[in-house]
Amino acid sequence: MQEGALWQAVLGEIELSVSRGNFVTWFKNTQLVRYKDEVLVIGVPNIFVKNQLERKFNDLVMEVLAKNGTKPQRIDYKIHTGIPSTQSVHDESVVLLDPRPGQANQQTLRPRPASTGVTHAYRQGLNERYTFENFVVGAGNELAYAACQAIVQNPGKKYNPLFIYGGVGIGKTHLIQAVGSAILANKPNARIVYASTERFVQEFVDAVRFKRNTTNFAAFYRGADVLIVDDVQFLAGKERVQEEFFHTFNALHQANKQIIMSSDKRPEDIPTLEDRLRSRFHQGMTIDMQNPDFETRVAILQSKASSQEVELPQPVAELLANRVQSNIRELEGALNQVLAYCEMRSVSPTIEIVSALFEGNKNRPKHFNARHIIERTAKHFHLSMEEILGPKRDKDIVVPRQIAMYMLRSELHLSFPKIAHELGRKDHTTAIHSVDKIEKELSFDGPIRQNVNELKERLYA
Ligand code: ADP
Ligand code: MG
Repeated sequence: MQEGALWQAVLGEIELSVSRGNFVTWFKNTQLVRYKDEVLVIGVPNIFVKNQLERKFNDLVMEVLAKNGTKPQRIDYKIHTGIPSTQSVHDESVVLLDPRPGQANQQTLRPRPASTGVTHAYRQGLNERYTFENFVVGAGNELAYAACQAIVQNPGKKYNPLFIYGGVGIGKTHLIQAVGSAILANKPNARIVYASTERFVQEFVDAVRFKRNTTNFAAFYRGADVLIVDDVQFLAGKERVQEEFFHTFNALHQANKQIIMSSDKRPEDIPTLEDRLRSRFHQGMTIDMQNPDFETRVAILQSKASSQEVELPQPVAELLANRVQSNIRELEGALNQVLAYCEMRSVSPTIEIVSALFEGNKNRPKHFNARHIIERTAKHFHLSMEEILGPKRDKDIVVPRQIAMYMLRSELHLSFPKIAHELGRKDHTTAIHSVDKIEKELSFDGPIRQNVNELKERLYA
């Protein structure tokens, strides 16, 4: 197997066995540099990652490598500055719990481990770390948790569909994935499909575009016993997909199959959602999932720390829970930063360390740079980097280009000359004009606002 493919396969599997926060923090920007004389060299972006991989994750990496038929004598983690800040190929996508042969979806699965057959973790598809056991219940999420538990007891009977909505990073994906895993644990033969809405859309578009009929696609989703669709707000503005989704929904619902959806908005606030879908979404149970309160955030921190076998003094947990209020994903990232810092220096976490680390911190992941944002914007609009950076002035390129400039301003606070430069423009007044224009557009609830919101959300997801 090619070395690149080997490492992709290894990462694909590791992603399923560690939490998303850990994966993003420690594994995302790594690559296989070489494998020679039984020494495998992994390039890592910085000393923190090197240290953490050596101390905490080396066994796991060895184990997964072995499953993929590679057994080096040792692994060297080397700081490797040439690592591009590419977006991960491991975005949340369709996870097929019970893959049936001959389905159109097979090709869209994550990279497969190369070993014979598929590993248990892979076959299950869901991230095993997203369980009910490690989900901390408290004010804000208890209702959603209870409904999910009830569904596990009686899929398709109660709360069908279940529609959970709430802000970014508060545990929606964790919870609905946990339902999938728990039902599967009770009924190993259940056909459970977990799909991000983006994936559902992409597969539908592909099925139509390549003039293949959409029968396979439809049969696949309609054959599910439990259909879990994440982030249905992304159905907004996509008429034909909504129609397809409507039929899928009806087929499953009539057959008493369980449907679970998550969204960042209530059904009535998803723009351009067909009325008939909106009313379907409300047919069962709609739950507003709130940001966990302070006590719950503290408990989550304690639980994450203890799963890493670290003792977190209560005042430190409280300080962190106060610092990061809106989003558990960021809370987890902050905790990881603290733990890595302390481990490097062999000290215990203290209030002073946390205060120093987060002085002036704006909760922004450090790896963001201009290139990364431009790439993500281009990808969002299905443009190549050449197109977005090039001279063409077609409307469907100009607007994404303007959005990219706006993003550089709003997310990185770059100067206008710098923004112009990043987009290959000589004149900085273009940047001023573009940012201005997008800012004005954002005051209307139109496609530009929707796109910018989606883009930001994915950037921080
Ligand atoms: P969302 O889908 O709402 O954007 P996620 O489900 O991806 O959020 O959650 C973000 C991170 O926070 C995940 O790593 C998840 O495990 C963690 N998390 C969120 N809520 C809880 C909770 N109540 N207990 C433990 N971990 C949580
Ligand atoms: Mg999510």
